[in-house]
Amino acid sequence: MASILLTVVVFHQLRTLSRLPSSAAGSSATASLHQSTVAVSSPVVGQSDLYQQGFSRQVAQLRRLYQSAPKLSVEALMDREAAEADSYASKMFASLDPPTQYRIDADPTNFGDRFEQDVNEKPLQNKLLVVLHETASAASSAVNAVLTPHPRDEDQISYHAVIRLNGEILYLVDPDKRAYGAGNSAFKGASGVETVQTNKNLKSSVNNFAYHISLETPADGYHQHPEHSGYSAAQYMALAWLIARSGVSDDRITTHEAVDRSGERQDPRRFDMAWLQKDLALNRTEVFLGGANLP
Ligand SMILES: [Zn+2]
Repeated sequence: MASILLTVVVFHQLRTLSRLPSSAAGSSATASLHQSTVAVSSPVVGQSDLYQQGFSRQVAQLRRLYQSAPKLSVEALMDREAAEADSYASKMFASLDPPTQYRIDADPTNFGDRFEQDVNEKPLQNKLLVVLHETASAASSAVNAVLTPHPRDEDQISYHAVIRLNGEILYLVDPDKRAYGAGNSAFKGASGVETVQTNKNLKSSVNNFAYHISLETPADGYHQHPEHSGYSAAQYMALAWLIARSGVSDDRITTHEAVDRSGERQDPRRFDMAWLQKDLALNRTEVFLGGANLP
């Protein structure tokens, strides 16, 4: 009985923690957040009163992970993909240890600033939204696409992060910036339908308040089959690790398919939200217990 009660209390606190990103994690953790953001030269969007504090805190926490990840070249990534091909299955087990993380910066044509007002100068107050995708190719192909300059608006594409089948996280776009992960799209959340138009020539979308994460598709899903064999345990755990450390709550996690209004997007195919929630509970516990390297 006592353990049941304790569990309820812990989960109540975890739910609270998920909405109060780092302040609940102790003063030393808060200090490191401030140290890491002082050095940032570009303005941190979300510090104005137009955004709720949750947005800027969550972006700041994701930025800290992005900024501390060592850089990797796409050539090195491709070499590793080739070398791993024979032994891939052995590298896909899940672990609560921090995933290996790298940073490969996207070409600047493939992302933009997050706006504080929409095209009609209406102030924006959306909270951060995690939008999940899949690459439909090897991770290196998705990375190559965001490294390629795309001067035309309609060709631009990017994700903030790609999670490889082996659980490695590749950060591609600064979380402070607006990645172009979704076109015509809207999120139906607790406070109604959310969508933002920032360019009068393009349909409104969730990009302005989205953190786009793309899961590397298994090889049997590279072509446009309706199905594939699904994501690895390592991917679910790395995804949960990242989301738990962002402070984004469960009701702000969605898929490209769910927000798409074009009727063309079904990704991430075969995604198991219940599996993610199970891994999220483990990672939120880890964050709560303080072993989480929280910003
Ligand atoms: Zn997508």
